[in-house]
Amino acid sequence: MSASVAPRLPSIDGLLRHPACLPLAERYGRESLLASLRLLLDELRSSVLNGQLSAIEISPDVLAGRVGERLAQQQRSNVRRVFNLTGTVLHTNLGRALLPEEAIDAVQMAARYPLNLEFDLATGKRGDRDDLIEGLIRELTGAEAVTVVNNNAAAVLLTLNSLGTRKEGIISRGELIEIGGAFRIPDIMARAGVRLHEVGTTNRTHARDYEAAISPRSGLIMRVHASNYSIEGFTARVPTAELAELAHRHGLPLLEDLGSGSLLDLTRWGLPAEPTVRQALLDGADIVTFSGDKLLGGPQAGLIVGRKDLITKIKKNPLKRALRVDKLTLAALEAVLGLYRDPDRLAERLPSLRLLTRPQAEILAQACRLQPAMAGVLGEPWQVSAVQALGMIGSGSQPVARLPSAALCLRPQVSKRLRGRCLLNLEAALRGLPIPVLGRIDDDALWLDLRQLDDEPAWLAQLPQLQVES
Ligand SMILES: *Cc1c(COP(=O)(O)O)cnc(C)c1O
Repeated sequence: MSASVAPRLPSIDGLLRHPACLPLAERYGRESLLASLRLLLDELRSSVLNGQLSAIEISPDVLAGRVGERLAQQQRSNVRRVFNLTGTVLHTNLGRALLPEEAIDAVQMAARYPLNLEFDLATGKRGDRDDLIEGLIRELTGAEAVTVVNNNAAAVLLTLNSLGTRKEGIISRGELIEIGGAFRIPDIMARAGVRLHEVGTTNRTHARDYEAAISPRSGLIMRVHASNYSIEGFTARVPTAELAELAHRHGLPLLEDLGSGSLLDLTRWGLPAEPTVRQALLDGADIVTFSGDKLLGGPQAGLIVGRKDLITKIKKNPLKRALRVDKLTLAALEAVLGLYRDPDRLAERLPSLRLLTRPQAEILAQACRLQPAMAGVLGEPWQVSAVQALGMIGSGSQPVARLPSAALCLRPQVSKRLRGRCLLNLEAALRGLPIPVLGRIDDDALWLDLRQLDDEPAWLAQLPQLQVES
């Protein structure tokens, strides 16, 4: 920069009165505008001082424009809707189950008005929030009693801590699972104050292994659903009914962490079989825990169901208070459970089940319909095809089962060396759309699995804004 008189940046006061800034003050508030202007001017001042920019180039209009963009950016929520085209329906990182309209209405009501959360309207006395859903869950699972906490991890922690603290928890080595996000059975047991007593081997555990482990130090037997892996080949596992009989013979409770679990037999919709809560209880499990937002299709929650005396003990644990659910969750959960009373219409009304049961032919037809638009936007360097694909349920339901689906397969027509970069650029561009589009990269292509593309108009409308760096 020359040593002669430095051109001056516009003044704050001048800018605040500038016609282009007035609507910004109106929209975002004077304080936010002021703070944004100050920050921008400071940045520009340094650029001018170190010669990267001449102050002459900075007009009030340009400044107002830039500040306007920044304020708009700031105001945009961090919690954003996305298109989940990953092929995984119950995607933990993308919020798992989508709620049905009935539950959305219930959440709105609970958010807007006071409600009888812990108030018995019949007697006018203090109530228990679990009472709001207890009847429904008992009806749907056959359980004697019920309590609900923040998620299934909390359900397992609370149950272990309530029933087995300072005692040994017996569990098969084949069930010492880790779920994403640092949920590991040995760690949870330790935190719950239960001493882990592992029995059997990774692939085979027999009744005699459990039997040999039982001693006066034993507090409970635990069984955990292998949610995200499968053990195949030379395997042995004690059926729940037999394990329950063994536990009861020694006066121990059997806990079963079903993970996802299901309230109904999913094979009636052609989905892979998943153990039902009712069956686990019928088989003799004393306590069963499962998630609200996996196959159940509801809000995040952990359901603990089973023997009344044990549930009473669990509810008395001070940890229950720390892990309890809020009113919005309870409102949503009751509405979702209500839909289960009419299984014939469940697949129409419960979004997760509707999406899981969408026929492959319908998804493929959608892919064919959307292929020209996608190909048009991406142009020459990309081969866009509508193809069959395999998705999955997700969230630890049937880890090896694949859902026959269909996708737009986007393949860069460039040398092998450049392919990886091309795919990452496209992935970033899709993420940069107003409603970010999330697919998956596999086999040198980017796949957009359309099973979950409900809102086709919104998806198409933003497509022309796609800008892929080459
Ligand atoms: C998913 C899962 C959990 C954790 O449930 P969250 O609801 O995510 O807390 C625990 N155990 C098993 C077997 C699971 O599959």
